[in-house]
Amino acid sequence: MAYSVAIDGPAGAGKSTIAKLISKEMGYIYVDTGAMYRAMAVYFTKNNIDPDDENAINAAVDNVDISIEYQNGEQQVILNGENVTGLLRTEETGNIAVYEKVRENMVEMQRELAAKNDVVMDGRDIGTTVLPDAFVKIYLTASSDARAKRRYDELAAKGEQCDINDIKEDIEKRDYQDMHREISPLKQADDAILLDTSNMNIEQVVAAMRDIIDKAIKNS
Ligand code: C5P
Repeated sequence: MAYSVAIDGPAGAGKSTIAKLISKEMGYIYVDTGAMYRAMAVYFTKNNIDPDDENAINAAVDNVDISIEYQNGEQQVILNGENVTGLLRTEETGNIAVYEKVRENMVEMQRELAAKNDVVMDGRDIGTTVLPDAFVKIYLTASSDARAKRRYDELAAKGEQCDINDIKEDIEKRDYQDMHREISPLKQADDAILLDTSNMNIEQVVAAMRDIIDKAIKNS
């Protein structure tokens, strides 16, 4: 049987940074489900399909094939045979994550990956919908102030000009969208462990998460 660690939480909570480090330590495969949604959005952009037109999206979803490969341990997202990994961080998913058909398609692909491999999978609906039987579920969050500050520091380090209040507003808007959509909204699964990282650095979060995982392994 394959083992799964499910990590959910709002945008900017550090899920992918932490999940990458944890998966390396444990020898599990890291699956970034946000990148899969972004890859689907790339398909619609490339094919001039309006992300607000649900009928057009529904008609096109079955033409999208997304697979995951690993190069030197890094996840590569292959969209209909083309490696689109480089395009994903800047791709906006717009509305597409709210559509039932898009989500069904994604959940199926994600479950297939988790059935074949030991995974650390992060996203918004992993513990609640994709992998309800994951052996450990963690809800990783931080205050919007802390998340905005981290993002601001990241951009400032790259020499980019930005306003921390705009960043915070954007984060809160994304939280609202993720938490209020009809299908699979972002929420902590009943059996997930809450980890609030507002006052923690990366090393502390990794250590706290390892502790949660080790306890779950002992009790399993
Ligand atoms: O995590 P990331 O910001 O890359 O996700 C991109 C978008 O995909 C988010 O806006 C989120 O709403 C959506 N998403 C989702 N379910 C997931 C992962 C991401 O709806 N499991």
